[in-house]
Amino acid sequence: MADRRPARLAALREQLTAQHLDALLVTGLANIRYLTGFSGSSGLLLVAPRELVLLTDFRYETQVVDEVGDFARVSIQPQSLWTGLWQLLPQAGTIQMIGFESAYLVHRDFQRLLEQGGRWQWRPSADLVETLRERKDPEEVDAIADAATVAIAALERTLPQIRAGQTELAVAGILEHALRDAGSESFPFPSIVASGPRAALPHARSSDRVVADGDLLLMDFGASVRGYCADITRTVVVGRASLRQRELYDVVRVANATAVAGVRPGTSGRDADALARDYIDRCGFGDLFGHSLGHGLGLEVHEAPRLARTAEALLPEGAVVTIEPGIYLPDWGGIRIEDDVHLAVDGARVLTDFSRDLLELT
Ligand code: ZN
Ligand code: ZN
Repeated sequence: MADRRPARLAALREQLTAQHLDALLVTGLANIRYLTGFSGSSGLLLVAPRELVLLTDFRYETQVVDEVGDFARVSIQPQSLWTGLWQLLPQAGTIQMIGFESAYLVHRDFQRLLEQGGRWQWRPSADLVETLRERKDPEEVDAIADAATVAIAALERTLPQIRAGQTELAVAGILEHALRDAGSESFPFPSIVASGPRAALPHARSSDRVVADGDLLLMDFGASVRGYCADITRTVVVGRASLRQRELYDVVRVANATAVAGVRPGTSGRDADALARDYIDRCGFGDLFGHSLGHGLGLEVHEAPRLARTAEALLPEGAVVTIEPGIYLPDWGGIRIEDDVHLAVDGARVLTDFSRDLLELT
């Protein structure tokens, strides 16, 4: 498999030069993984013009060698990673201005920069690595597609086991067991199983509510393969669907299909959001679609780019994003249909290939 790390590092160094930074201290774990391959939970990465130094602790001594090889200079710290940084930084060449990732540095560590790191200048930076991560390499798209396949296999196995009388938590248990069985490495976020009126809460947690006959059942869950996430939502009816349920479901289904058919590289996040929102508006439910249309997917389940009314940036070719319109009617229920799509040159390719018809579990 092609090693993408040299190209990623070269692209990042170009950004550092453009921003007049001599070096970057990377503390976001997903960013460290993207740049070096290291997937541990403790790390500091210094990207300097001629040095790449990864500091981690003794728990990862074996893993870091397996994952990083000789791509970076690895330094195992017996105690604090920061102590190691203050020892290694003076050896990293002539460096004055160092960027730090403002989204991933707690205030206590910022104080360390000012105190122990007082001989360097520190400048907050945002999204340098995240922007590179927006365009996926083919191997990354394959991993997300494999995660989507795992998620769908789990859903296919779960649906026939769902009955009125089970709690939402019990359904979540069946689903999460099936996800593990199908090969999911982790749960990128706590699976949402929301029934009846609770389906109106877009970010509901699964609860001990008992699913009743005729309920809408919204399932939003993820799978993870080779570190990459898929994120899918399907809404079904336990028992027979009512006319009202069918009517609203159809609005969401068409909104999803319209956005998937219309979105492509170069569409702005706002215009992508409007593809679904304008349709829902025209149907008279605009006020009931309270969240944005979607988000990027990759090493993290929510990453750049955003598909939202306030997102002016253009969606880059190669991004993988979710399309997840929904309608939420308080005290009645909610419907969301979420798919993951790869923005290829010629349009969006759907990675979550599972029926969007209204399924009645009878
Ligand atoms: Zn989701
Ligand atoms: Zn999502």
